[in-house]
Amino acid sequence: AREVVLRSRPVGWPTPSDFELVERELPELEDGQVLVRNVVMSVDPYMRGRMSDAKSYAAPYELDKAMLGGAVGVVEQSRAEGFEPGDHVLHGLGWRDLAVVEARSAKVVDRTGAPASAYLGVLGMTGLTAYVGLTRIGALAPGDIVFVSGAAGAVGGVAGQLAKALGAARVVGSAGSDDKVAYVRDELGFDAAFNYHDGKVSRLLRDAAPDGIDVYFDNVGGEHLEAAIGALRLHGRVVICGAISAYNATEPQPGPKNLARLIQTRGRIEGFLVGDHQDLAAEYWGRATGWLADGSLRSRETFVDGLDHAVDAFLGLLHGENIGKMLVRL
Ligand code: NDP
Repeated sequence: AREVVLRSRPVGWPTPSDFELVERELPELEDGQVLVRNVVMSVDPYMRGRMSDAKSYAAPYELDKAMLGGAVGVVEQSRAEGFEPGDHVLHGLGWRDLAVVEARSAKVVDRTGAPASAYLGVLGMTGLTAYVGLTRIGALAPGDIVFVSGAAGAVGGVAGQLAKALGAARVVGSAGSDDKVAYVRDELGFDAAFNYHDGKVSRLLRDAAPDGIDVYFDNVGGEHLEAAIGALRLHGRVVICGAISAYNATEPQPGPKNLARLIQTRGRIEGFLVGDHQDLAAEYWGRATGWLADGSLRSRETFVDGLDHAVDAFLGLLHGENIGKMLVRL
């Protein structure tokens, strides 16, 4: 079997030399395990955090061991009840072609309505993240004006569309290229969008949302966060989902200088981790399946082919080369 190991902990931006694709003998299958051939794996921004050894919510990846991450594969052999050869399963042993998976940490997925890749994106962890952030943390209400950063990405693209589906009056997005801005506006149905490279985010946001915003879904942090706080309306909510602008920083980044605006607006800022909100998974899944079927939810995916290019896919994700969910087809 082949797998991607972490050879050194990146300082600042990761480089290909921090990783290596290696051959490894697989152990014999034991009771309760299945042998899975991965067909698609996820690369995600949170993996950058696990490459460093700073204390965080997820344990750091171990050096010289295969990295971990979401994947969907086909069962080749099974020594576990409820898992048959040919089943597609979602599990956590990505970054390798073949995996010996504990059946209790795998889930058989239904592929009649959705492709396997959907379970790593719109019907998976990233889709649920958008739903939890908007509904439970952001307390989205009909008529709200919503701003989403990282709007052409996996979480952001779903968040903006869900906001529309749930009755937001106006949804504004930001992204890092004109192509992405067009995608967000024309394909995903955001009311307005801007390229954050075009000027000061506070000005771009004011032009796109002249009446201010009720909910900010933050994937980015930094200048975006300060601009959004500056645009908050009375009882506005700021949902801290991610802060990708700082993930490769070697120094702590300066925070927003305008937090006092939360006093005037009686505003609220709250972070969350999707893993704490699995109780919403079934509800989201049911609603998302309906929205996908009636066209109110669309999802693009960007595929990179081959395990030998999985690191390129991860680095590309950090550099914004994806539209929608970034995935590796094995
Ligand atoms: P995306 O699909 O959004 O991919 C990452 C995107 O980040 C890139 O495409 C790039 O788009 C953008 N980006 C990179 N650098 C910057 C920068 N300096 N400023 C602004 N944008 C930047 O990834 P996901 O949808 O998987 O994740 C989105 C966010 O959600 C991340 O911050 C992630 O950590 C977070 N997250 C949080 C979870 C939680 O439980 N709290 C769960 C899952 C994800 P562009 O070209 O527009 O710059």
